[in-house]
Amino acid sequence: MSRILVTGGGGFLGSWLCEKLLEQGNEVICADNFYTGSKRNIYHLLADPRFELIRHDVTFPLYVEVDEIYNLACPASPIHYQKNPAQTVKTCVHGAINMLGLAKRTGAKILQSSTSEVYGDPEVHPQVEEYWGNVNPIGIRSCYDEGKRCAETLFNCYRMETNMPVKIVRIFNTYGPRMHPNDGRVVSNFILQALQNEDITIYGDGSQTRSFCYRDDLVDGLIRMMNTPDDVTGPINIGNPGEFTILQLAELVIKLTDSKSKLIKMPLPADDPKQRKPDITKAKKLLNWEPTTPLEEGLKKTIEYFDKLLAEDPEFCRR
Ligand code: NAD
Ligand code: UDP
Repeated sequence: MSRILVTGGGGFLGSWLCEKLLEQGNEVICADNFYTGSKRNIYHLLADPRFELIRHDVTFPLYVEVDEIYNLACPASPIHYQKNPAQTVKTCVHGAINMLGLAKRTGAKILQSSTSEVYGDPEVHPQVEEYWGNVNPIGIRSCYDEGKRCAETLFNCYRMETNMPVKIVRIFNTYGPRMHPNDGRVVSNFILQALQNEDITIYGDGSQTRSFCYRDDLVDGLIRMMNTPDDVTGPINIGNPGEFTILQLAELVIKLTDSKSKLIKMPLPADDPKQRKPDITKAKKLLNWEPTTPLEEGLKKTIEYFDKLLAEDPEFCRR
């Protein structure tokens, strides 16, 4: 049994990770400031004596004794990370410094949840880890993209200076139950719109692509990465290589919900990447990992979740 810190453990991915780590017999400390997370994601874990919740902002130091740290704290949806951009940079950069400091003092292994956004609007397709990316340093997405890039730099600096066991994963678009209904990401938006027969908002002409990974596959990939030998540091792409246009996603959601929604076109936000698909050769080789949930199957489970949430708590779902 290990004692494991999950920062951002009250969020969409963090809460599933906490749950999985508890299932595997570990002690879990969840640190979250609930900026985008929700107590409802972890409420069911509070009774477990091996689970501990700390309201904490990672831009401040944290003093706990742990064996492993998963650093997930950071808003992930464009509308939320753009709302307070300087705070997003601080969360990425000061958060990384504080958690690396904690890992250094305790000797803990530490994993950084980086992102496909480090590739920006990529000119290499599919994206391989060796690609340096195409990021606008002063655009509306830069607080997140450059913050995450700087966090990768910090992880690498600590590794080079101290030989600490650091791990970096680059997560590609991930979806599933517990996504926040108001976080504006494409999967939750389309499902909620379709379930309520509202117009489906296509930004741009809908020809931009994304590759969607179901949350169980993603969490499995994170844990496998943490459990690699110390010389496996990454960065390693974790995502589902199945690539879809945003229009294809909208049509699939309409079909699966049997919705009467119409598609409407809205302006494409600045710097919106035109294409995204992970090359997961490294993950297959080093983690013996690849996703197993096809988009249609994952969407059905996510639709079921939002359908229930709409019935139980329409206020929480109001956008
Ligand atoms: P999320 O917004 O649901 O979760 C992030 C959590 O971090 C929330 O609980 C939030 O309250 C917390 N948080 C934010 N700032 C904090 C701070 N300063 N101190 C403490 N807690 C803070 O997002 P998610 O989708 O679960 O993403 C989790 C991680 O995975 C993030 O680091 C994100 O960048 C990364 N990621 C996610 C995706 C995806 O598609 N879901 C893609 C790429 C990378
Ligand atoms: N998108 C869209 N309609 C929406 C929300 C998003 O067409 O209601 C598009 C968005 O412009 C982007 C893609 O869907 O091209 C994925 O957006 P999301 O915010 O989920 O993630 P990211 O852009 O960070 O990959």
